[in-house]
Amino acid sequence: MANKKSGRCSFCGRPENQAKLLFQGDNCCICNECVEQAHLILQEQFQEQNAKSGGFKLPDFTLKRPKEIKAFLDQYVIGQEDAKRTLAVAVYNHYKRISQKVQDDEVEIEKSNMILVGETGTGKTLLARTIAKMLNVPFAIADATVLTEAGYVGEDVENILVKLLQAANYNVSAAERGIVFIDEIDKIARKSDNPSITRDVSGEGVQQALLKLLEGTISNVPPEGGRKHPEQKMIAINTKDILFIAGGAFDGIERIIAARKSTNVIGYSTNAEQALDKSNMLQYVAPADLKKFGLIPEIVGRMPIITHLDPLDKDALKRILTEPKNALVKQFTKLFAMDGIQLCIEDEALEYVVDKAVEFKLGARGLRSIMETILNDAMYEMPSSNHNDKLVITKAYAEEKISKNHKLAQ
Ligand code: ADP
Repeated sequence: MANKKSGRCSFCGRPENQAKLLFQGDNCCICNECVEQAHLILQEQFQEQNAKSGGFKLPDFTLKRPKEIKAFLDQYVIGQEDAKRTLAVAVYNHYKRISQKVQDDEVEIEKSNMILVGETGTGKTLLARTIAKMLNVPFAIADATVLTEAGYVGEDVENILVKLLQAANYNVSAAERGIVFIDEIDKIARKSDNPSITRDVSGEGVQQALLKLLEGTISNVPPEGGRKHPEQKMIAINTKDILFIAGGAFDGIERIIAARKSTNVIGYSTNAEQALDKSNMLQYVAPADLKKFGLIPEIVGRMPIITHLDPLDKDALKRILTEPKNALVKQFTKLFAMDGIQLCIEDEALEYVVDKAVEFKLGARGLRSIMETILNDAMYEMPSSNHNDKLVITKAYAEEKISKNHKLAQ
């Protein structure tokens, strides 16, 4: 009672005017700092208890089992069965590993970063983003093409961590458990193996710098990013428990895979070669192919899980339009419904959209711009019109709108 009257924290004695917040209970008060302190203690205790009981519950989320993770991914990502299964297991093991670390036995589970190999626009980023959403952990996307060795013009590799830190709202311990997606990892392949890349800074130097992060290091990063300078305040981030997922199209790797496969089958019956599905060679991708492509062996060694994404056929593109939780058709239907308009897109029109995406070689990425082009006039006109409460998109309607637009085909 005395505390309440005098407006002091009953735990640390801090007076009300020195606390940001003072929570009042029936007979006592507690300041924001003591609440934070108690939260930390509870977190530590949970972690210890869970490790002892063999449970995998981390302070901020309950880890789903691989099948549940895959079911979650299924809601957002069409097809890509192999990649989803592999990712589900990798993520499950990764977070099990983190939750086990307080346990005092000798078996140390190593980190398993992964590489997704697949054509652009097949869902690599979407997979990584969706998994981060499910786990509710900070997620950052880094573009490997802008990374350079320290000292060169471009972004330091550490900037990847700045992005993660920002995604974690500067909560270092959350960032240290986050997921980083490194896009276009294939673009930092060694020049000698990949003469088409005309970067002035050798990809190998960037790979070496990246390797440190993958291996687990304590990296001092400038909180706002950019180049380091001596007077700057730095934040130390331990990358040991950060899951790195890299993605790349690895253009031309099919030839490397085919060459390896055909060398392997020499001397055996031709059946083995015939059994190869030549339309989707990426499914056979192996670490040796990535090395041959120009990734240094150490990087490949630190990203031991390799999986592939299938090219998206017409059927998959059509499903992408309609099935995922936030499918484009669902999004546009909602937009029109907000103006009291019922949107109906005929099946033939959907097929047409898919055909155009294939024709323009835009893949899944192109679906949105094609849909926007078709619906733009209606989205402009209809909200101001009083008599229309239904819009039916036929194939003829879609054709007319696309033929008027010249930007898409470029
Ligand atoms: P990338 O493989 O180049 O990283 P993205 O994941 O960025 O491709 O895909 C681009 C967009 O295409 C996504 O935002 C998503 O809308 C759509 N998309 C691509 N693949 C799929 C898929 N398998 N399932 C659902 N949507 C997809």
